[in-house]
Amino acid sequence: MFLKKLIFATNNKHKLDEVRAILANDFEVLSLEDIGCIVDIPETGTTLEENAKIKAQYVKNNYKFDCFADDTGLEVEALNNAPGVHSARYAGEDKDSQKNIEKLLSELKGKENRKARFRTVVALIIDDEEHCFEGEVRGVIANSCKGNSGFGYDPVFVPEGYDKTFAELSLETKNTISHRALAIDKLCKFLKNE
Ligand code: IMP
Repeated sequence: MFLKKLIFATNNKHKLDEVRAILANDFEVLSLEDIGCIVDIPETGTTLEENAKIKAQYVKNNYKFDCFADDTGLEVEALNNAPGVHSARYAGEDKDSQKNIEKLLSELKGKENRKARFRTVVALIIDDEEHCFEGEVRGVIANSCKGNSGFGYDPVFVPEGYDKTFAELSLETKNTISHRALAIDKLCKFLKNE
């Protein structure tokens, strides 16, 4: 059986693994690299939604494929929802996850309120129409890094209802509760009804 091809406008291997696991039975998910796009698409928007749309539109305009793109932010209550849309470059242009985490832990030093949420917006362009899907997971920021799986802020994010960080949980578990999984799940339901 041939699966319909859909481009996921990312080259982040972790995200691809997560999303391919969710859409595996229904779609062949191709990365930017798979279609020969090796540029780092500029994320010049001021919101997650704008950035997700910019990335999806870039692929549609330049490669003519139906595609979807995601943008995610970590919003920390005690930091007025920072780093938010700036999550990737919180500690600098080199997008270094370890430095981002160090900055986050230092900003939260002495603060009792450790509540945070990950929010993902997925923008889909299909048949020349644009659709957005959102997912979020609430939790708290741990005092130090724990666990080796996942990426980004996973070692310090403890989702609600768990006593382990995302980096200590299996990919299967993360994929049942994560911001991106919830947004992709909505995308998947939409695509199945198309
Ligand atoms: P992006 O723009 O969707 O790539 O996400 C921005 C930043 O948020 C990334 O560079 C990561 O640091 C962080 N991030 C996104 N998704 C996750 C996740 O599932 N776990 C931990 N950090 C994430």
